[in-house]
Amino acid sequence: MSQTANDPNRKSWISVPTDSDFPIQNIPFGVFLTRDDVITIGTRIGNTAIDLGALHQLGYFRDIPLTDDIFLQDTLNDFISDGQKTWRLVRNRIANIFDQNNKTLQHNKNHRKVVLFDLDEIEMQLPVQIGDYTDFYSSKEHATNVGSMFRDPNNALLPNWLHMPVGYHGRSSSIVPSGIPIHRPMGQTLPQGAETPVFGPSKLVDFELEMAFITTDANQLGEPISTEDAENYIFGMVLFNDWSARDIQKWEYVPLGPFLSKNFASSISPWIVTLDALEPFRVESPKQDPVPLPYLQYKGRKSFDIHLEVDIETKNTPPQTITKSNFKHMYWNMSQQLAHHTINGCKVNSGDMMGSGTISGTTKDSYGSMLELTWRGENPIILSDGSERKFIEDGDTITLKGYCKNDKVRIGFGEASNKLLPPFGSKKRK
Ligand code: MN
Repeated sequence: MSQTANDPNRKSWISVPTDSDFPIQNIPFGVFLTRDDVITIGTRIGNTAIDLGALHQLGYFRDIPLTDDIFLQDTLNDFISDGQKTWRLVRNRIANIFDQNNKTLQHNKNHRKVVLFDLDEIEMQLPVQIGDYTDFYSSKEHATNVGSMFRDPNNALLPNWLHMPVGYHGRSSSIVPSGIPIHRPMGQTLPQGAETPVFGPSKLVDFELEMAFITTDANQLGEPISTEDAENYIFGMVLFNDWSARDIQKWEYVPLGPFLSKNFASSISPWIVTLDALEPFRVESPKQDPVPLPYLQYKGRKSFDIHLEVDIETKNTPPQTITKSNFKHMYWNMSQQLAHHTINGCKVNSGDMMGSGTISGTTKDSYGSMLELTWRGENPIILSDGSERKFIEDGDTITLKGYCKNDKVRIGFGEASNKLLPPFGSKKRK
């Protein structure tokens, strides 16, 4: 099917600010609460949110095979289950409805009134009910940095790392959208030089700059998905901050991997940008040496040129960018991750979320965590008022941003912005 929604020359009758992440070529999907306290599935052009439930009721998706209530639900799971052909029909139709040359909705004031919302009239929700969440560890630079610090700089990568996209099963119950504050976790840690652990608030709370992809129902139990087919089952992507407590992590992670150091919170940007919208930004993944086993080999360009950055805002300082990275640095691409995840027959469902792993670049200003940026706190980040940050302090807000850009169009993800609060139930510090 021709992806007419991606036409870079199309203009919308809805105004789009310069450098907006959401031109008419994006057409992401999300779930929001309207000014009338109704939950609906929607999309966004510029700073206007569009109620797809209302559009459907008014007949704008006529001829597309959709159930009547598909956009009146509080998650995108059923729509995602409808499959790639339906996603494309709907995206193409939305592009057509909002094209500046289409006067139908543009000139219907009554319809516009129930379909369009200003962003400050809505509240974004989690876009999917996440059944299962998996986190990979697919940036070679990140795995090398963490291996150097936690174990041994001479054997930073464990022997399996170059042969498979290493991952672990995470916890979907604690994934929240942008805007929801996060509490500093309590837990066990082993102080430097001590032989027995202590209990208390984590002292080393960190962000992890990641992206995540959202799948549709991909297979039956027992059935693997090939690298060739994998992208047909990927609906889209979001920014993903995999909040981490490094001191808890260091004490607990052997032998089964991270547990409570990771599952207290992860936050995502609320608009799912479809893989289709990212099509113009395909790039090669890094060359893999050694050549992986046949089931992990792939053809074509399977990565995407997505610029990423992280800002920190504190009680005393305005937002300041502390790192810039790019999704294209990922050693293992999403197709390889999904093929590996299902090679044993593991079933993948609609709304499952797969984190990339922290995305670090090759230079010190492109690392995807405070752990790496400050090298365990040895080189603190200097804030604009002269104060220092080794890790994240109570009251700090971490914001992830991401976008793709060529000379015609910019497709972005908005942001995942969340504040760190003191431990649950504790009094606020002065
Ligand atoms: Mn992670």
